[in-house]
Amino acid sequence: MSYQLPQLPYSYEDLEPHIDAATMEIHYSKHHAGYAAKLGAALAGTDLDGQPIEQLLKNLNDIPQTIRGAVRNNGGGYLNHNLFWSILSPNGGGTPTAELATAIDQAFGSFEEFKKQFSDAATTRFGSGWAWLCLCGDGSLSICSSPNQDNPIMDGCCGKNCTPILGLDVWEHAYYLKYQNRRPDYIAAFFNVINWQQVSHNYIAAKG
Ligand code: MN
Repeated sequence: MSYQLPQLPYSYEDLEPHIDAATMEIHYSKHHAGYAAKLGAALAGTDLDGQPIEQLLKNLNDIPQTIRGAVRNNGGGYLNHNLFWSILSPNGGGTPTAELATAIDQAFGSFEEFKKQFSDAATTRFGSGWAWLCLCGDGSLSICSSPNQDNPIMDGCCGKNCTPILGLDVWEHAYYLKYQNRRPDYIAAFFNVINWQQVSHNYIAAKG
């Protein structure tokens, strides 16, 4: 298979009570695995098979129309969840440090204001989608949300040339077992498991 799931860096139950084990197991082993398998199936036999997923999604218009929708949805799902698992940690929460802390303060005024704006973006995304914190080409940080499995590198929701460094899945499959219709409670709980060390790493990497 060309598109493998990353190993989870923790066990399904490790994010309890903020994200429950049953949700984690289904989310990773069924939903994420499904996106990876369907992406592989869509690309099988084409010369695009095995290309880096970011490259495919940045150039969706170059993909044959017959498989473009499948690549957009399943490739987005594959990439988005790769990022999502990596920015969660049982030892997460708290606030960012160092360079990222300074950048967040500069962009949003304070961490609390960042948290409010990010939570608002996640809460108000109608239906299924994601909330994002991106580093953009001009060096600025930007918050946005996208529908379905779109990623900022394909739909430009945060602006042109923006790289997501933090993402929150607000599809119902991400929270419904534990939180039912209470998406805001899930969003608040997410802040207890954010791996800011990884987000900082993503920030530095995106700065290049
Ligand atoms: Mn999901």
